[in-house]
Amino acid sequence: MKTFKSILQFAKHFSTDEICREHLEQSRWNGTPCCPFCASINVVRFANNNRVFKCREKVCRKKFSVTVGTIYENSKVPLTKWYLATYILTTHSKGISSLQLAEMLDVTQKTAWFLTQRIREMLTVKAPVLLNGTVEIDETFVGGSDKNRHEHKKKGIGSKTMVIGAVQRGGVVTTKVIPQVTKEQIDTFISETVELNSNMVTDESHAYTNVGKNYNHQRVNHRRKEYVNKENKQIHTNTIEGFWNILKKQIDGIHHSVSPKHLSRYCNEASFRYNNRENAQDEKFELAVTNCEGRLKYQDLIAE
Ligand SMILES: [Zn+2]
Repeated sequence: MKTFKSILQFAKHFSTDEICREHLEQSRWNGTPCCPFCASINVVRFANNNRVFKCREKVCRKKFSVTVGTIYENSKVPLTKWYLATYILTTHSKGISSLQLAEMLDVTQKTAWFLTQRIREMLTVKAPVLLNGTVEIDETFVGGSDKNRHEHKKKGIGSKTMVIGAVQRGGVVTTKVIPQVTKEQIDTFISETVELNSNMVTDESHAYTNVGKNYNHQRVNHRRKEYVNKENKQIHTNTIEGFWNILKKQIDGIHHSVSPKHLSRYCNEASFRYNNRENAQDEKFELAVTNCEGRLKYQDLIAE
């Protein structure tokens, strides 16, 4: 792919829906169009409308375009705006609000919000690899809208939601939103995220005691105001805490409040940014676009 030095260059290049569509065909299919209904590659492009393909399998025979089965399907927003929004969101150092994006793309805030939620969905790692080496694990509380604070207090629940995270030193971070905290959920997250027998560093919380038996478990005692173990300076959770700072700045500073329902997508966005911190801007954009399969309907987004 062409490399872009600026958003202006990017916008100039992807100036028509046709150019975006050709790029999407290449990114999604790598030159071999594939039926989204039956996964056959026995397909033909229509001569009089080159956006449309037809599946030649006798049992299928369906017509489709490259956007079918992706987050772009049936969208009234032109692909040029989708592409620009994807580029902005994936390459921005901190992320931007839907209000800012609406102004940049000349769409309503509602449309911009929907675009960003769908793009965040593209930033989800679909097949995460197990973390190994030295892995720091910690939990934090984020989000929660002020509007609901009193309501939540009455029900006896905090207005913030727990997120657990694991980061491999020098590697990637994985997070999970845990609305109702139980030891089982923490155990499951760690078992599914961290390779057995790795070095695992946590704070002194008892929540990690059980699952820690499967790992070389080291603790730092925050309650005693210990941030780095004095005997072994490798025992600290500064990496994951650094990530929490980034996440909270993004959520509190840019989006102000995020409901628990949408929180995992914001965590995905912050993780994507962290995990691809050494990739070029074009690579980040490409990575998001190749992950465009799967839909998220507006009805699902706004449903309680
Ligand atoms: Zn088919």
